[in-house]
Amino acid sequence: MVIIGCKDQSDSFIENNKVDDISLLRADFEKQTGYDQTKVYLLTPAFRTRINWDKTVEKHKDTVLIAVSVLDTVHFPFDGLQVDLKNHVILKAVRNKDSKWNYSTVTFVPTDLSKGYSGLIISRSLKKGIEKIDYYNEGSILNNDNIIRRKFAVSASKNANKASAGLRAGCIYGYVNGYVNFISCDNYTGTGGSSSQDTYGDPDDFEQMPIFDGEGSPPFSEEYYSITNNVKNPCLKGMVDEVINRDIVFKANETLKSIFGANEKINIIFNESTELESGVNGNAKPTQIFYDTEEKISSIDVSVNLNLNTLPSSSQEYIATVVVHESIHAYLDYKGFLYNTSQHDIMLKNYVGVIANYLVNNFNTPVQDAYSVAFGGLYEAFLNSVNNQTWSSIESQLGNKLPSLNDRSRILADYELGYKGKKCQ
Ligand SMILES: [Zn+2]
Repeated sequence: MVIIGCKDQSDSFIENNKVDDISLLRADFEKQTGYDQTKVYLLTPAFRTRINWDKTVEKHKDTVLIAVSVLDTVHFPFDGLQVDLKNHVILKAVRNKDSKWNYSTVTFVPTDLSKGYSGLIISRSLKKGIEKIDYYNEGSILNNDNIIRRKFAVSASKNANKASAGLRAGCIYGYVNGYVNFISCDNYTGTGGSSSQDTYGDPDDFEQMPIFDGEGSPPFSEEYYSITNNVKNPCLKGMVDEVINRDIVFKANETLKSIFGANEKINIIFNESTELESGVNGNAKPTQIFYDTEEKISSIDVSVNLNLNTLPSSSQEYIATVVVHESIHAYLDYKGFLYNTSQHDIMLKNYVGVIANYLVNNFNTPVQDAYSVAFGGLYEAFLNSVNNQTWSSIESQLGNKLPSLNDRSRILADYELGYKGKKCQ
């Protein structure tokens, strides 16, 4: 007996009418998940994505790979590289025995493809929200924790603490638009019983995934750049984020973000510290410096410590000033004033206005208050090393923007103790 046209209906779901069936698949997906194009964080909470239903690959009748555009700039440090996640995310649809489609977001973080897939594959089941992180080496899955840890440590030497801490907690980090962010947390136990029902990515999916998003950026590069906020205290952490987000204009065409957040090989790391003396708000120390063949700085890490013992009781304006002040130290290090012990002189001469304007523009601080606070941390420079000529030129330049020494000391203390300005939260 010959049976024609009597295949199980679900079996021919994709085969018979491709265009139509993808739209059926799409309808099913949207029904199951409530997805629409505005839900840019549905596929992965770490960065924004959009599904491209017109770019799909049918691996076989029960497995469809759908292209996903990554709308943010996402870099993932692993195994010595920064992997660009553009064109590295797919939606994977797998039909189970019960004919129901299961969906997962699969993010590929390849570091080498010459001898099979090496790198990470992050799978996120959209139904259960379960995330699973698989580590591959030359096409084989890696289970050895020590090797994985080493790959993280070597890779993210500049973020080693964060990366290995993240690994211990089962979470991994990447850079989303230049800022460190969670990418994924492994909450897959592997013993859920119904794991055969779940849909995970594999190296084969990477081979076959649909290619889209025209201009292909190289999949990985060795560019390191970032501004990292490791501060834990909520009020201090928020102030660091705010200063970074609002940017600091050092001079025309040179801002904190343009220097530390873009293509330069620079890293500025904000930390909190309980070791600083009570009179010290913070400090900035270069921790790693590389020079090019012309002996110019090609890469620098600057670690900024903020005084956790004293700063949280200060006003927002005061804390922001400290963050800006220390960022200027980092900027001056980068500009080659690394071994110049009188960076405060340079600051007093050229950057008091930068700090004061920052307060006026971002906090509506009265001008005289802004200059009083901006002079904080520069008193010893004023008293010790700036020669009289410089000082009188600063004074005459600022005119009545700068209150008398007595007045500005009082104003500074009011902001420092939180009597004036906004409370830090
Ligand atoms: Zn300083």
